[in-house]
Amino acid sequence: MISTLVIKAVRACNLRCPYCYYINEDTQAYGITLSDTLIHRLYQTYGDYASGREDAVNLIWHGGEPLILGRRRFQEILDAQAPYFGDAQVRNVVQTNGTLIDAEWVDFFHDNSVGVGISLDGVRDTHDAMRFDSHDRGTFDRIVEAINLLERSGIGVGVLCVAGPEIDGVAFLRLLKELGIHGCDFLIPMTNHAVQRQPGQEVDMEKVGKVLRDAFLHWVGDDNPEIRVPLFESLILNALGLRSVCSNAGATFEQLETVAVIETNGDICMDVEFGEIDRLAGGDEYRLGANLADQDFNFARVEEMLKSRTEAKGLAETPSECWPCPARTMCRGSHPGSRYDDLDGSFQHRSAYCEAMLPLSLEVVDYLDRSGLRPNLIDPRLRTVA
Ligand code: SF4
Repeated sequence: MISTLVIKAVRACNLRCPYCYYINEDTQAYGITLSDTLIHRLYQTYGDYASGREDAVNLIWHGGEPLILGRRRFQEILDAQAPYFGDAQVRNVVQTNGTLIDAEWVDFFHDNSVGVGISLDGVRDTHDAMRFDSHDRGTFDRIVEAINLLERSGIGVGVLCVAGPEIDGVAFLRLLKELGIHGCDFLIPMTNHAVQRQPGQEVDMEKVGKVLRDAFLHWVGDDNPEIRVPLFESLILNALGLRSVCSNAGATFEQLETVAVIETNGDICMDVEFGEIDRLAGGDEYRLGANLADQDFNFARVEEMLKSRTEAKGLAETPSECWPCPARTMCRGSHPGSRYDDLDGSFQHRSAYCEAMLPLSLEVVDYLDRSGLRPNLIDPRLRTVA
């Protein structure tokens, strides 16, 4: 079932983060928002699809910067949901850069039960170097202020951190603890084999691996279950043969059919890693070929499209290049989008994140060994100490 829609509410932003896949010098149709007609069509079709199902559905309001829409417009968007969703449980979340949040926005989130995710790229120096506004001003102080406002009013904040090569993962986790944050997902800087070959675009994955390993060791050493880190938890679960939910730890078939992205023009898409293939590597992998405005549009058909795309491209399979890898049951080829290579147009390659994921996975194995769990590892090759 498609349980999460990532809705690109607006293609505009008040920041100029250099790694942004959405807002850059070449962004076409900058300033476009999802129209009222498309929003009602989205609610009507998704409400029909979700009605009678027990699980909650998640609407993640994304951009660009979704808060640019303003409170009045956002209130209209939320108020329009009631007639369409019946008794389905709808959870609204905004994923924001945090810079526009003030006391009124906090009241708005509180009154409308809207969850908040904020992007924070490490401590002040790395964050300000990567996330600055159109006047080149860093945004760290504004975001910390926003987090404090939210926390004081009892709204828990989830943080997303792009684990770039310059991040100090340990200092970052200490900062989260000071701020009272309970959830942090580390994102690996998006790339794939085609992009890694492009001069100036490549990401130093060895350094990313060090950032993640340092953060992992601090996380387990601190033994603070209040800070949840899905990437680390997923590697542990995968190692033990349990079910993980993190696409950077190898998306499962079920996961790939649960999320769809809605573009500002109504196009239905795969997740943004596939958008990077199109933007930087000349692919055609992001759009599924359906639009909310299509006369016969429905989400049951989108679910079929996600399934058939996943099957046809082998996105949920661990690629054969990963079979000899000692970490294959944990990393599972990492995010399928990161396996793309334009030389053959296929996803049947080890991940371009491999230089980060292999050392991180082996660090997790060492930790499980120290915890006496080596005999429980699902891969027999990992059960004996090398
Ligand atoms: S660490 Fe590398 S080789 Fe091993 S499963 Fe992950 S991507 Fe494949």
